[in-house]
Amino acid sequence: MAMIMYDLIIVGAGPAGLAAGIYAARYGLETLVLEQSAVPGQISVTNVIENYPGFVSTSGKELMARFREHALANGITIKKADVRKVEDAAGKKIVFTHEGELHALAVIIATGANPQLLGVPGEKELLGKGVSYCATCDAAFFEDQEVLVIGGGESAVTDALILSGIASKVYVVHRRDSLRACKVLQQRAFMKENIEFIWDTVVEEIAGEDAVEKIMMRNVKTQERTEKNVEGVFIYVGINPNTGIVELNKNEKGFIVTNERMETSVKGIYAAGDCRVSPLWQVVTAVADGAVAAISAQEYVTDLKLMR
Ligand code: NAP
Repeated sequence: MAMIMYDLIIVGAGPAGLAAGIYAARYGLETLVLEQSAVPGQISVTNVIENYPGFVSTSGKELMARFREHALANGITIKKADVRKVEDAAGKKIVFTHEGELHALAVIIATGANPQLLGVPGEKELLGKGVSYCATCDAAFFEDQEVLVIGGGESAVTDALILSGIASKVYVVHRRDSLRACKVLQQRAFMKENIEFIWDTVVEEIAGEDAVEKIMMRNVKTQERTEKNVEGVFIYVGINPNTGIVELNKNEKGFIVTNERMETSVKGIYAAGDCRVSPLWQVVTAVADGAVAAISAQEYVTDLKLMR
């Protein structure tokens, strides 16, 4: 049987991928969206979203259900597939999945990102035994216990707030003396009686026999070393892009470099959302990236077909 040649394959079914799918379908591209089969994307484990216009407050799950419904209503096919590699071959792109090859004229990489590891002793050993990267997933295990959050961005403060409703005490350890998170979140956290900030401090080790028992910290200004007994450690020190499947121009952290049209260093391959270099990684920017990438892909595919 002849292999189907899609106009466009979108790798990733998060906000960027589904927005790209909606735009591509409306421009008449034969589009396939590939969704990773096992690991949920960052949005799916986000409890509260309060900055996506049109929704005063929603959850990642709810928003994704709506995006999905919208994409399906536009005739998009969403297929579960774990993509191993995307390659540029003469006149087409080959997407290698665990189930075989797929071919398209253009590809949009919308693979998102995962939490960055802190890289201290005990982190990997005690993962799932008190070490977590997701309060939405794991906060319930720490009812009335003491936990520690590492980081000062939106993720750290959002999840410290979730934890403060479940744990008895939440310490937030940040390497500087001011937070990166937006002011609204900061004010909410400062008002919580059971959230305590530990400033100018880095965690050097997470220790415990079979579960987290304590963490070792160092104040970066005084160099004083201290310990704290906690049952849970939640780490939010940034994100790591899922871009290993494709060889493109990337920055030192692996985020794909694009121009404002979402074009990458390879013609006909575009990137959108958290996997690309961006000043802001939000749902609203991911969907905008997706729309731009779809329009760029549509122009490329149309030109390619005209030349044939
Ligand atoms: P982030 O904004 O990159 O913040 C990471 C935090 O960890 C920073 O405070 C950083 O300190 C600290 N950090 C980095 N490396 C560290 C290390 N080795 N040791 C100790 N601390 C370290 O990451 P994020 O909070 O995960 O957010 C990622 C993206 O998702 C952002 O664009 C964010 O806006 C977005 N996000 C949005 C929402 C929402 O809108 N609802 C929720 C969550 C995340 P410095 O401040 O000193 O650099």
